[in-house]
Amino acid sequence: MDRDLSRRNFLKGAAAAGCASVAAVGGAEDAEARDNLALPPGALGLLFDSTLCTGCRACVTACKTANFRPLDGPADKPYLDETKALSPKALNVIQMYADGTVEVKDRETDGFAFIKHSCMHCVDPCCVSVCPVTALEKDPMTGIVSYDKDACIGCRYCVASCPYRIPRFDYDKPFPEIHKCELCRHLLPEGKFSACADACPTGATLFGPVVKLHEEITRRKALEPGEMTRFPRRSTETGDKSGEKPAATYIDHVYGEVEGGGTQMLMMSGVPFEKLGLPTLPERSYAAVSETLQHTLYKGLFAPALVLGGLLFATYRTSDHDDDEDDDENGSEDEQGTGDGRR
Ligand code: SF4
Ligand code: SF4
Ligand code: SF4
Repeated sequence: MDRDLSRRNFLKGAAAAGCASVAAVGGAEDAEARDNLALPPGALGLLFDSTLCTGCRACVTACKTANFRPLDGPADKPYLDETKALSPKALNVIQMYADGTVEVKDRETDGFAFIKHSCMHCVDPCCVSVCPVTALEKDPMTGIVSYDKDACIGCRYCVASCPYRIPRFDYDKPFPEIHKCELCRHLLPEGKFSACADACPTGATLFGPVVKLHEEITRRKALEPGEMTRFPRRSTETGDKSGEKPAATYIDHVYGEVEGGGTQMLMMSGVPFEKLGLPTLPERSYAAVSETLQHTLYKGLFAPALVLGGLLFATYRTSDHDDDEDDDENGSEDEQGTGDGRR
């Protein structure tokens, strides 16, 4: 596709200049800075442990059911839904990494692994930072990033700004909405919690206060590979545990601890995260960088040239994903990321 400044590119560029891609504009990090936002005191989240995931996709079906999305399984067995790409119909997907002979689970070479894609509930979210009408908000207590369809004006800045490419837009509806995981916040008043974690038979997806998830991460990191242990299932608060299993060999990286200012979805894996389609991000949140830049621009009154430069640069960078968004507009479902070997 031509890299012309189409309407869609302009929207993407404008949003990205407000957040994600503007981080590339030199000097912003040195400007008078606002810090990354801190984790809220009652932060809730998910721990996804790829080494425990069997790829059964019970979580995909449970997410659709809990969030009133159509199931895509066979008519007589709709629970066999194998949806593999985020869309307005799917807020949570499980994708498979496969390499070479695909023989050994959780091994990078000649191995395979599974990865969950859903909103990361960023500690300092770009989508919230760029939304001009606060249709996206981060709860000051739980940190859940929620969406208000009545406030949304359909500008899609959030779609362009999210470094994980999570929010999906109803291109084919007369009154379109944004769709993304809201951590099943509608279930919390009933004493329930994230349906994906509730349904996961192995504990690969675990719900809980983020501080408890970090405690469990610390415990898992201290395990010797092959050491027998029981893993918490469903929620850190319910006391459910799996049967005894050997601990896997983890890579020395917990995704979400620092990426983009941190996330409330944390991930452990035996395969490097870039192979699983997750972006490599700086520790400084893009929202902090862009809000710092905006502050500096207004203060210094040298906005026009830099803003225009940022817009053009952001437009150029984000246009790499045009084909994906074309797919969206045509109603098909695009895969997360572009890494090789994922199915
Ligand atoms: S339900 Fe659990 S084991 Fe099954 S695909 Fe989802 S995360 Fe993996
Ligand atoms: S992952 Fe994307 S949509 Fe979710 S909170 Fe972060 S920026 Fe917003
Ligand atoms: S927390 Fe709820 S909405 Fe989010 S992925 Fe899990 S089931 Fe889906």
